[in-house]
Amino acid sequence: MPPAPIVTRVLAVANQKGGVGKTTTTVNLATALAACGKQVLIVDMDPQGNASTGLGVAAKARDHSIYQVLLDGMPLKEAVSRTLVPGMDIIPSGVDLSGAELELIDVARREYRLRDAMEAIRGTYDFVLIDCPPALGLLTLNALVAANAVLVPLQAEFYALEGLSHLMRTIDRVRRGLNEGLSLQGVVLTMFDRRNNLCEMVAADVREYLGDRVYKTMIPRNVRVSEAPSHGKPVLLYDVRCAGAQAYIRLAREILQREQSLPGQAALAS
Ligand code: ADP
Ligand code: MG
Repeated sequence: MPPAPIVTRVLAVANQKGGVGKTTTTVNLATALAACGKQVLIVDMDPQGNASTGLGVAAKARDHSIYQVLLDGMPLKEAVSRTLVPGMDIIPSGVDLSGAELELIDVARREYRLRDAMEAIRGTYDFVLIDCPPALGLLTLNALVAANAVLVPLQAEFYALEGLSHLMRTIDRVRRGLNEGLSLQGVVLTMFDRRNNLCEMVAADVREYLGDRVYKTMIPRNVRVSEAPSHGKPVLLYDVRCAGAQAYIRLAREILQREQSLPGQAALAS
């Protein structure tokens, strides 16, 4: 029998708030999934390009970026760069991407640019993780339309739930108008600090509101996690034994286990 075809699972890592751990989660979850033997592609949709920088993508490689794919019709495969991590590729963000939010407005199928371009790699990767910018504009919309599901990093702090309900409404709207199959993959609590009572209280609230859509795994606040990008590496390569790296490995396992326990789910969603 021929091997089963790969069903590509596309996750948009999104939260309109900045600094909540989207990029950190994209880079390190992708690395942990690759370490589990999965073929993974990161799409850096943030004009700030933190995922590209944090993975040490050379400036030269940025001539082939997601900007060219979205606006110049470059085939997606041509924009793919290798990373240090075996099995993990990236489409970097380019400096031009900051203009894309406005330039996209006048382009045909403006919400579908990424989805259309990604047809070419369906079945090539097990997972595609899209690192979204901290806004709900056309770049994030392109990610939500191209995705099977949304992964939401949430920092346990006072206004977390308020921002979350806004994001949920956006997901609902996308589901009704542009991408019927979009689901909520899950919410991961980031930069968690057990010594902080507010963190514990917010985490309890989030779990009450969203139930088992919140992952058991929480990512602790860990200085090694924040140091790794300046070395151009995911924390799993920088210090695999630190608490942050270990948490991302647990998160990858939890996500893979959930996908296995929902047979047919991935296939249906694509
Ligand atoms: P976003 O992409 O949502 O803007 P980032 O992933 O860039 O957020 O994270 C914001 C900042 O917090 C970065 O400086 C990052 O290094 C730091 N950070 C993220 N996660 C952790 C963590 N678990 N422990 C310590 N610092 C973290
Ligand atoms: Mg970011």
